[in-house]
Amino acid sequence: MDSTLVVIVPFLLFFGLLFIAGALTPNGSLWWLPIGIISIALGFGIIWFVNRRNIAKSTDDSSNTKTIDFHGNVELEIISCQNCGGTLTPEDIKIIEDSPLVNCPYCRTSYLITKEEEFYYSL
Ligand SMILES: [Zn+2]
Repeated sequence: MDSTLVVIVPFLLFFGLLFIAGALTPNGSLWWLPIGIISIALGFGIIWFVNRRNIAKSTDDSSNTKTIDFHGNVELEIISCQNCGGTLTPEDIKIIEDSPLVNCPYCRTSYLITKEEEFYYSL
C-alpha cells in the first residue's frame, strides 16, 4: 500500500507542474492551474502521510529491545552479551534516556540494562 502511494507521488508532482506550466502558456486553459495545484498538494500530502505512518511504525517497533536485570555495579563488572556471551566493551554501551543500551557487536542484539537501584526499587 505504502510503496504504491510512493510510486504515484512523482507522477502527481510531475503532472501537477505540467498542468501549471500548461495553464501559463497562451494556449493553455486557466482550469489547468487548480488541477495542477491539487495534484501537487496531493503528492506532498501522500509524502506527509507515509512519513507519519513510518514514524508511528518505528516507535512501535520495540520487539528487538529486551530488558535484562544486572546485579551489582554495571560499570565495574565485565559484561558479556546475554544473547551470545561475547565480551562487551564500554564502546558497545550507550546511554539512551538514562538507561544503558547494549549493542552487541557479535550478534547485533540490542537490549537495555536495568541498573542496580532500579532493580531494588522494582522489588
Ligand atoms: Zn551478542
